Parts: sequence; structure tokens; C-alpha cells
Amino acid sequence: MKITDVQAIYPKYMHVPSSWRSSLWQIVVKIETNVGVFGYGYGGGGLASVAIVNNHFKELLIGKNIESKDDISEIWEHLYFESIPYGRKGIAIMALSGVDLALWDLLGKAEGTPVYNLVGTRNKQSVQSYATGTDIEWYAELGFTGHKFPHRWRNDLDYDTAVLSAERSRGLIGKNGKVMIDTYMSWDAEVTTRMSEQLKDFNIYWFEDVLEPDKLEAQSLLRPNVKPTLLAGGEHEFTHHGFQTIADNKALDLWQPDITWCGGITAALKIMQIAEHENIPVVPHRGGEVWGLHFIVSSDCENLAEILPGTREETKDELWIGEPEYFEGYIEPTDKPGFGVAPNLSMLR
Ligand SMILES: [Mg+2]
Repeated sequence: MKITDVQAIYPKYMHVPSSWRSSLWQIVVKIETNVGVFGYGYGGGGLASVAIVNNHFKELLIGKNIESKDDISEIWEHLYFESIPYGRKGIAIMALSGVDLALWDLLGKAEGTPVYNLVGTRNKQSVQSYATGTDIEWYAELGFTGHKFPHRWRNDLDYDTAVLSAERSRGLIGKNGKVMIDTYMSWDAEVTTRMSEQLKDFNIYWFEDVLEPDKLEAQSLLRPNVKPTLLAGGEHEFTHHGFQTIADNKALDLWQPDITWCGGITAALKIMQIAEHENIPVVPHRGGEVWGLHFIVSSDCENLAEILPGTREETKDELWIGEPEYFEGYIEPTDKPGFGVAPNLSMLR
């Protein structure tokens, strides 16, 4: 198959929180071929990423041949190299992720097989899920056995807010469930160390993103202080080159690459090789979305997928049609070819 057209579109979101997400949230990439087979991908970087795909990557992609995973790897390396002057991390790689995932979808559809069969041998049927968000009562009713709550540090009173949230979460999720905390870079080394003391009765599985991702040495020094809680992160890191730096600095106990940001499945496979070599568990960011889920079930990722159900009252944008539903705290990909989803066209007009 030869690539004949490439188009990136920024969907019309109605329900993203106002922030950088207003115009820099997720994009849809469509790649078409001369045999009528096409693929859809999902990338980050919003309007800036759309510009990169449509004004630069497109001209590099048109006419390229796609018959195998090796062809996808070759294209990945080519786009990575050509975008080095403005890329290597951030929005350029978020754009590359959208292209990469569209190519995996395309190859799956051409071969009539789900992407997980291209990734490797499927080793997980149903994946245990955890809910990220604030509506823990609802998540417990839905049957989730894992919960991650957001916590932001402002002042000393926030030791108590963390304890209260942990108590509530542990109470509802049960003794054997997983409870995690995402601090979104709002704690520092001292707060993290003291938090691990204050929260020791709640058996917290991981603290996520406690420091900024550039503070590699400070993170590596923190790891022993919070044991047995794991220091987790990686949603703000890109490609196997970036994760190699995390590995070299021994900065984290658990890695969370975002498959739609880190360089797609092609980069995730290489990140996984480094993780295996370092004996680091991997739990992809937003792994309950099809892009992560197909990777999780056929790789050596942990048996754990992140789901963001929102809240009971909240309305959400339904961008992807055909996404598998979570049930009783578990989720599994469908067996449709490719990723098995198509965009809601009314959001792309
Ligand atoms: Mg996070």
C-alpha cells in the first residue's frame, strides 16, 4: 500500500477543562492509501500538532510504502530525524504519536487483525482497571478495585487533606484495592517524604509526578524515602531516548508513558525494552483508551489500565465510537481490525 493522503484535525471539544487543553488537547490523524484502506490515530499537541502533521509530516509521508511493522519503524525514524530542529520532545513527538498510531491502525485493518496481534502475543485477556478522579463513591459502585485521586499541595493544611482523601478512598475501595495519588508536580522532596510518613497506614501503591520531570537526581534520592510506595511518572517524557535518561538516573520506580504522546506504539515498544532491562514496571498513562489497551494486552506492561470516568453528573465528549466499555473494574479490547474505533464525525466538522 502507498500512502496517498494525510490529514490531522483538531476536534470540536465541548467538555475539556479550560487550560492548555482548550486548544492543545488531542488530535485525530487520518492516513489514506491507494488501496482504499485507511487508518486513524490519536495524538497530543492540539492546533500546533495539527500544523506539524499537515504542513511537514504529510509531505514526508505521501508515497511511502506500508506493508509491515518494519516499514512503520522506518517511517518513525525518518519523521523523528526530520523534526529534530523543533522536536525530540513535546508537541512534535505528540504529533508523531498520532501518525504512528494511524499507521498501526492502517496495518491492522489491511491484515484484518486487531493491533494487539501486531504488537506481540496476547498475554492478558481482561485488564484490571483503576479509576482516576474525584467521584470515588461512584467508582466503587461501578466495581473499580483501584482508585487514583488528585492532590495539590498549597500549604501545611494539605497533609490533612491528603490523609482525609486517602482514608475515604481506602475505605471505599477496600483493603485489597489499589490506591494511588497524583500530585501533578505540586509536592516537593520534603513534602513527599513527610507525606509517606503521614499516609503509611493507607498502603498507597504509588505517588505520581511529585516533582517536575527534569529533577531526575532529586527523584532518585526520594525513592528510598517513600518505600514501599512507588515513585511513579513519565507522562511528561518522550520516546525511548527520554526514558533511557530516566533509566540512567534511576529516577523512578514505575513508568507511565502516554501512548498518544510518547511516540506511539513504536516508541512504547522500545521504552518497554529499556524497562525490562531495568526491571521497572510500566503502567501507561490513560492505558484504558484503545491506544494503550492494545499495547498493554500484548506487552509486558503491568495488568493495570487507567480509566478516567469523570463524575456521575458530568457530560463527556464522545470522540471515539466503538471504544470498549469497562465493566466491574475490568476492560478488554474488541477483536475488530486495527484499534477498532472510528471518530465521531460530528466533532470533526
Ligand atoms: Mg498524572
